[in-house]
Amino acid sequence: MKISLGMLMLSAIFLSCTQESPKVKHVKMKPAADMKGVSVVNEDDPVCHMKTAEFLKDTAVYNHKVYGFCSDHCKSEFKKNPSVYVQN
Ligand SMILES: [Zn+2]
Repeated sequence: MKISLGMLMLSAIFLSCTQESPKVKHVKMKPAADMKGVSVVNEDDPVCHMKTAEFLKDTAVYNHKVYGFCSDHCKSEFKKNPSVYVQN
């Protein structure tokens, strides 16, 4: 009877483990659509002039303002020399 009791214990542990293990939820990368809620000061990408409302992928802060860009590339171009793109 010792063996069957041990088996019972083992299966009980196994069952409790499988029941308690949290279901793995895959956290998706933030889709670009999330950026649509972000408000930026520029209507157009200052580098390539694409509409930020439609193509916003990245933002950069310059002079306490949030500028939107269609891509990483435009953002880095902007950051190299912001004064070229921002007229104040
Ligand atoms: Zn761009």
